Amino acid sequence: MISMSDDFLEFYINTHPAPQAMPDRMPKIDVKRLDIKRCEFCNKPLPKKFKVHVNICQEPTKHRFCSRECKESWCYGFMN
Ligand SMILES: [Zn+2]
Repeated sequence: MISMSDDFLEFYINTHPAPQAMPDRMPKIDVKRLDIKRCEFCNKPLPKKFKVHVNICQEPTKHRFCSRECKESWCYGFMN
């Protein structure tokens, strides 16, 4: 059983078609496809519990990081 954070679940829901769009099969979590997402700072594949930085003033509004350290480093890099 895969445990998922709320952020991960929200990301999954936002990037996959609604279950009712695929009536012939049960919605399944395709972990391999989700693995494509990488930390935006160090470019490592995101772990199951990753950090999301939301800034509605930026496009895209959501940025994903493997750790709090990467998220903070990325934020500081933006300010310089
Ligand atoms: Zn990282």
